[in-house]
Amino acid sequence: MKNQMRLEFDSISANEAFARVAAAAFMTQMNPSMEEVADVKTAVSEAVTNAIIHGYGGGVHKIILTGEIEDDWLMLTVEDQGVGIADIKKAMEPLYTSRPELERSGMGFLFMEAFMDEIRVESEPGKGTRVFMKKRIGCQEA
Ligand code: ATP
Ligand code: MG
Repeated sequence: MKNQMRLEFDSISANEAFARVAAAAFMTQMNPSMEEVADVKTAVSEAVTNAIIHGYGGGVHKIILTGEIEDDWLMLTVEDQGVGIADIKKAMEPLYTSRPELERSGMGFLFMEAFMDEIRVESEPGKGTRVFMKKRIGCQEA
């Protein structure tokens, strides 16, 4: 089975829930478990929150969520054209946050890594950030 989708929405906090539910709705056709849906929703939510807070710093610009299904693999990307990340390795370290004053805890990437099978970050300062996530769905019932 193959399927693709692409959504573009404003970087406002209400759209964090929208993106989470949209990803969940897209993966429904894969017959996921409740746990798999919850995992994907959490990961998407973290990536979109990062785009809103860090990428755009509260300004309203566009975020793109894409989804792709290929057999039992779900691939998602969350993309912003915000400030970008200078040191991706450091940004992905557990508990690293550039915004401690906002009571951020630096757990976002850790959650994405824990709940997805693979995550990859591409970013360029001044250009934006693209988070690619991949998860195999439905293999524990097999
Ligand atoms: P938490 O997710 O626990 O609230 P956090 O967002 O700071 O805290 P992570 O989600 O792990 O933690 O992100 C780590 C750091 O990576 C952020 O503090 C920020 O500096 C950088 N970062 C993450 N996503 C983006 C993005 N889309 N654009 C720019 N910087 C980002
Ligand atoms: Mg975060």
